[in-house]
This record gives sequence, C-alpha cells and structure tokens, in this order.
Amino acid sequence: MNKKPHILFLFSDTGGGHRSAAKAIIEALDIYHPGQVTTEMLDFFVAYAPPPFDRAPSTYAHMAQVPNLWELGYKLSNGKYRSKVVYDGLWPYIRSAAKDLVNEHPCDLILSVHPIINTPILRTLELGLKPYVIVVTDMVSTHVFWYNNDATLTLVPTQEAWQRGIEIGMDEDRIEVIGQPISDKFRHPTAPKAQLRSAFGWPHDLPVVLMVGGGEGMGPLEDVVRAVDRAQLDLKLVIITGRNEALQRNLEKKPLTISHEILGFVDSMPDLMNAADVIVTKAGPGTISEAFTAGLPMVLYTRMPGQEEGNVDYVVDKGAGVWAPTPEQVVETLRLWIENPEIRAQIALTSKSLARPDAAKNIADKIISMVKP
Ligand code: UDP
Repeated sequence: MNKKPHILFLFSDTGGGHRSAAKAIIEALDIYHPGQVTTEMLDFFVAYAPPPFDRAPSTYAHMAQVPNLWELGYKLSNGKYRSKVVYDGLWPYIRSAAKDLVNEHPCDLILSVHPIINTPILRTLELGLKPYVIVVTDMVSTHVFWYNNDATLTLVPTQEAWQRGIEIGMDEDRIEVIGQPISDKFRHPTAPKAQLRSAFGWPHDLPVVLMVGGGEGMGPLEDVVRAVDRAQLDLKLVIITGRNEALQRNLEKKPLTISHEILGFVDSMPDLMNAADVIVTKAGPGTISEAFTAGLPMVLYTRMPGQEEGNVDYVVDKGAGVWAPTPEQVVETLRLWIENPEIRAQIALTSKSLARPDAAKNIADKIISMVKP
C-alpha cells in the first residue's frame, strides 16, 4: 500500500492564534478529506531554536506585556532590507537547527502558520523539491517576515494583507486571499443559540458579554471587568482568562457583584461565541475572525503593538465593532448597546458579513491538490 502524503505544520505558541490556525486546517483535512494525509504539528521554537529563543513561547506573554519593547523589536525588523539584515545576522546561529528540522521531519508538504520560521527553512530547503505553503495569520498590519517569494504559495486573510505582500514584492501568482482559518465548529455549533444558552445556564432575557484576552488572557482585562462591575450594567459577564491563572485567581479573590462566570482556558469557544451577544476582546486575529463567523459585535479593549494595530482599524472601519482602549470606554459602549439593541443588531449583521468560514476548508482543498500523486 502506498504511504499517505505527510504534512508538517510549523507553528509556535507565541499567542494562541498560530496553534488555533494549524488545528483548524488539520480539522478541515480530517472532515473534508478523511484519511487522505497524515499530519504533524511542530512547535519549532521549543524543539529547535537555540537558547534563549527556545523559551519564546513561555516568555511571549511576559514580553508582550512590555508594549514598548515589543513594538521596538517589531518595528526594527519590519522592513524588507532590515529583515534580511536580521536573518543574515542570525544565520550562523540557526543554520544547523534549520537543517536538523528539515532532516528530522521528512514530509511531502510544509505548511507554516508563523512568520519567523519561513526564511530559515526556505534557505535550507532545496527549492522546488517540496511545496512550502505559508498561511498568514495576521489580518492587516502583516510583518514583512511573512512574505517570501521562494514559498510555493502564500495564503492571506484579507485584501489588505494581499496588497501589503504585493507592495513588498510578492509575485501575484504566489499569493491569494483565502481568509483566516478557524475551526469548523464556529459555523457548526453543537446546538442552536437558545439551546446553548440553556445548556450553559445563561439567561435568555439579559445580554451575555464574553470577555477574552487571547489565549494568554492579555491586556488590562481585570480593570475592564471591575469597571463593568462598578457600573452595574444589566448584563451577564462571561470572563475567559485563558492561560492567565493569576488573572483568574485575582478575579476570584475579590468577588464581582453583577451576574458573571469566570472560566479559565476553554475548549468550547465556538459554542460560547455562538451563544453570546457581544464580545469584549484583545484585537487578536483568531478571535476577531471567529467573532465574525459567530456574528458578534466587538469591543476591542487592547491590541498588541505592531501586528494587531491594523486589526483595530479593520474592525472599526468596516463597522463590526469599536476601539475602546480605556475601561470607561468599554463601559460606555456596552451601555449604549444594551440601551439600543437595534444598534447592536446592526453591528452584529455587519460582523457576520465579514466572515470567511470556508477558509480552513479551502486551505485543506489546496493542500490536497498539491500533494496528490
Ligand atoms: N482561545 C481558546 N480558549 C481560550 C482562550 C482563547 O481556545 O480559553 C483561542 C481563541 O478562540 C483563538 C485563539 O485562542 O482561536 C487566540 O488567538 P488570537 O489570534 O485571538 O490571539 P493570541 O492568543 O494569538 O494573542
């Protein structure tokens, strides 16, 4: 029997978005092309990066809490020639790790959902020997590291990300808008909204507001929660603290007085979003794309400097949400939307209209066509 084509997914847990994107594509391969390929996910930082870079996933949340430092690193490297200088400088340190990675993970196609790994692997691979696909998981203000004409195909979430690629010098026939891959479960929740709410024990007569700070529970989420609590808004808060255990402990230590629920890291985001009425979130690309599919109006309370700045403009300009960088602005937006359900309903419709729920399936279809014998 012929061996099935093997797909290697390169990702890293610097934020939850890269892992979610890779998992969504693997899920789509399993659903729409069952048994056709084998897959493997590799956190290349943890497995191959020389110290101290191997600790990137565990330090990401801390580094990202120092916005100026993050912004500086992001901007210093974000130019076509500056990025070449960065990689040329690092090359002596990472060359053998890149070679080991390629040799120790034989496969028929490599799919990367992370900007940093592409240049080292493309420098190592014998060009044209196997397809290398890049799935860009930043929406608008995409870092130059994402783009490389040596990749077989680059798939981007928005027209804006496509335009940026073209300006950087990508060939038009190597880059395509496909959307952000999100789990199929967002468009196929396990039950209709009313049933999900009953199952969660949520009220049917009060707006339910999800609050989430990405996979790591980032940004001043506690300040926002406390401000909403002080304002005694007529809603139920569902706070998802992600991997931020300290945040969860702090919230539980000093109880809130309005109707609420505090959850840690959840695996049920698709059902939670489909059951909720509004989401207050960091401007992460994964969460935003998922919220579009669930048709949720968004209050963006924070963003990572650099790669998430464009996401805010995207959501606000298209009319799917509001930028509210202070707890008071979050409170005022929620108050407006509670008092004017028709405004909320209009924004929900706009949000839904921006969804690309087929992205993961379309990427899976492309992969299959590229590895078919
Ligand atoms: N997420 C999750 N459970 C949680 C918190 C977040 O599954 O408890 C998922 C969320 O649905 C999204 C991803 O983590 O798919 C977060 O990605 P995003 O791009 O929004 O932000 P990042 O974590 O990368 O900064």
